[in-house]
Amino acid sequence: MSDCIFCKIVNGEIPSAKVFENEHVVAFLDISQVTKGHTLIIPKVHNENIFDLSPEAARNLFEVVPQLANAIKAQFNPVGMNIVQNTGELAGQTVFHYHMHLIPRYGNGDGFG
Ligand code: 5GP
Ligand code: ZN
Repeated sequence: MSDCIFCKIVNGEIPSAKVFENEHVVAFLDISQVTKGHTLIIPKVHNENIFDLSPEAARNLFEVVPQLANAIKAQFNPVGMNIVQNTGELAGQTVFHYHMHLIPRYGNGDGFG
């Protein structure tokens, strides 16, 4: 999708702080860090949200989530992590290219939840 900001990140048309990439997915730091190390992982193929994510795209994405979570843990040393996704405007989705948030948690005062 030509006007999709995350497709532009996939294509390298706009910069991002990439933390992981393979054939199917890319992960990068969220521009607005809810907590330190807040990361998004997205399929390279444009899917609006969970309602149109194919099982194959879901498998390809989730397959690397434990590895990505551990890389974030190794780098930022959180004590926990929230993994969330918003589907639909009402549910808080603001970018309509499927993405999963990995939000490291540091305990009281980390500003989330
Ligand atoms: P949503 O609210 O749709 O679940 O999450 C969208 C996320 O994308 C937000 O946390 C927002 O900060 C992030 N975001 C929006 N535009 C950009 C961008 O251009 N670059 C990066 N790295 N993150 C973005
Ligand atoms: Zn897109």
